[in-house]
Amino acid sequence: MPAFQAGDPDFDRIPELFLCFKLIQQNHMSRLAAPKFSSRSLIPPPVSKQNQNEPLIPENTATFSNSNDKPISDPAISATSRPKLTAVKRTKPEGPTSLNDGKLMKTASGQPSQSKPKTVTKATAKSVSRPVSAATRPVAKSKPKTATSTIPKAAPASKRAAWDYKGKIQDLEVAMATMEQKLAKQKEQESELTERVHVTSAQAEEMEREKRRYKLDLEEANDQIRKLESELRETKSNLQRLEDDHSDLKRRTESLRQELEILRTTLDARNRQLIEMEQSQLQTQTELTLKRSECETLKTEISNLQVMIADKEAKIQHLEGRARDDEILRKKLHNNIQMLKGNIRVFCRMRPPLDGEHTDMSKISLTSNGDDQRIDLTSISREGEEKAGSRQRSYAFNYDKVFGMKSENDVVYEEISQLVQSALDGYAVCIFCYGATGSGKTYTMMGPGVYHTGEGIENDDEKKKMLRRVGMIPRAAMQIFEETERLKATTGWDYDIKASFLEIYNEQIRDLLVPHSQFDSSKYEIRHDGVNTSVSDLTEVQITSLAAVQNLMTKASQRRSTAATQCNETSSRSHSVFTMKLRGKNSASGQDVCGVLNLVDLAGSERLDASGAAHDEQRLRETQFINKSLSALGDVISARASNAQHVPYRNSKLTYLLQPCLSGDSKTLMFVNISPSASSLNETICSLRFATKVGQVTVKSAGTKRKMEFNID
Ligand code: ADP
Ligand code: MG
Repeated sequence: MPAFQAGDPDFDRIPELFLCFKLIQQNHMSRLAAPKFSSRSLIPPPVSKQNQNEPLIPENTATFSNSNDKPISDPAISATSRPKLTAVKRTKPEGPTSLNDGKLMKTASGQPSQSKPKTVTKATAKSVSRPVSAATRPVAKSKPKTATSTIPKAAPASKRAAWDYKGKIQDLEVAMATMEQKLAKQKEQESELTERVHVTSAQAEEMEREKRRYKLDLEEANDQIRKLESELRETKSNLQRLEDDHSDLKRRTESLRQELEILRTTLDARNRQLIEMEQSQLQTQTELTLKRSECETLKTEISNLQVMIADKEAKIQHLEGRARDDEILRKKLHNNIQMLKGNIRVFCRMRPPLDGEHTDMSKISLTSNGDDQRIDLTSISREGEEKAGSRQRSYAFNYDKVFGMKSENDVVYEEISQLVQSALDGYAVCIFCYGATGSGKTYTMMGPGVYHTGEGIENDDEKKKMLRRVGMIPRAAMQIFEETERLKATTGWDYDIKASFLEIYNEQIRDLLVPHSQFDSSKYEIRHDGVNTSVSDLTEVQITSLAAVQNLMTKASQRRSTAATQCNETSSRSHSVFTMKLRGKNSASGQDVCGVLNLVDLAGSERLDASGAAHDEQRLRETQFINKSLSALGDVISARASNAQHVPYRNSKLTYLLQPCLSGDSKTLMFVNISPSASSLNETICSLRFATKVGQVTVKSAGTKRKMEFNID
């Protein structure tokens, strides 16, 4: 095989070739390194699969490396590095990739293929074994148009001798040709790549622009998003508010709906009521029309009735006037009758005998037959009946009325009622009960015990019996109440009735309607004002019912008995005076009346020796007062009877108190109560004598005078 020798034209060209090779390699390396892609490029480089840290080494290219196994890029390669060409064979490329047609090819094991360099070595060996002709050199020097036409034969595979520079040059030429071919190829690839790079760059720039646009759009979109987010938040808040409002409205709507429902129900009910009311109204209107016609009829009737009423009223007025006139006439006639009967009347009443009381009815006989009202009495001498030849005296006493033992209070009252009527007619009436103690004075005035109406008594007979016993005071009150009611209804008389209850004890007045502790005789003064008599500080009670009278009687009875006990006296030692003042007024006629009714329960009239009080100073004093007052009463009545100029009313408290009732046209009734007791016969005679004295008063109008028949044999 020809080798490079000194003087060989190719030998001289070794440095040149080497330099050329070096340049080519450098150029190739720089090109390989040239296509750098901007990190901003969106299109990856064609060798994206290759590790970019690895150098790109063309296929079938001997790799030169320094001690650091890095590609030699320095153009100034020193001559000392040339001998290291052999190292190309020893140094195998360690990169993981190889380049084939501009692309990195991976071996099956992932390591770059190492077979190609071996091939290169073979080609080099072939080219070495074939002598390089001169004709081929120019071709080698000039740039081959195509790689295929200028590729030299490969050098023989055997190792050239150190001296075989020619062979080595051939190898190098072969290698260079190969390289050139590859270079051309790579240039094509490069141009392609460059084209692609340009396209890619243009695309990248376009993309960059688009990116910027996108970025701007993005920023704009972000702004818009933020704006939209803000709007969204606002909208959300508005939505929340609206939802709240909605739920609120919903609730309110529900509430309103319920209210509406209630209102509808109410409205329905009201409508029903309205309909009912309308129906009712219609009915009422019909009725009203009916009633109106009835009313018209009634009006006519009323006007007729009014005429009739006016007529009747006129008649009533006329009749009332006549009634008043009749009443006046009645009063006059009644008074005339009373006057005919006598302004001073005396009734005698003998009580029935008490249990165990000794009576001798053969000595007393009562005759009550029309005008014959008489008591016959036979007295015996003090020596006694049994004594033979004893003198007997007969007495006969005539009175206005005599009541026997069987006459109850109801019968007695019939006679009194006329005087009570006189009191209502405006006269002063005085009714006395005179008699010894135990003769029945209190019984006559008050009745047995305190008056009661008979309530609680189941037995009718017993009830009737009890009612018959009711005394003069309650009976008079009853009559007054009944009569005032009648007069009020018939003739328009209106009465005011006041009552007082007092007693005169030892010429002192006591108010029986106040507690005993308040008894103060010094403060009661008798005053006469015309026909009216009043006692200062005396309790006066307006009475309108029998119960009120009963209450007064009970009070008075209790106070009287208490006073009697404390003064060591009995109730019979004082005069009790129950007074009813009757003030009547007739507004129609303008008349008024003022009558007085006195019901007097006189103190016991028993004689001093008989009472056994002669040795008792107090009793004696009491008896003296009693006798004095009773005597004064007798004197007053006698004075009236004789029409005396002076009537000694002031001789006792009793006569002074009763002055209006013992003067003028006043009416006086004296009950002389006697006992049927045989032992009281003499006392009875004394009482009868006193009563007879009273009874001698002349009855003016009649002009007659009753005489006491007193026979003494
Ligand atoms: P005086 O008041 O005069 O002292 P009384 O009225 O106290 O007498 O009567 C004495 C007793 O006689 C009483 O027990 C009374 O009940 C009784 N008495 C009086 N009058 C009657 C009479 N008419 N009928 C029945 N008992 C009478
Ligand atoms: Mg008495």
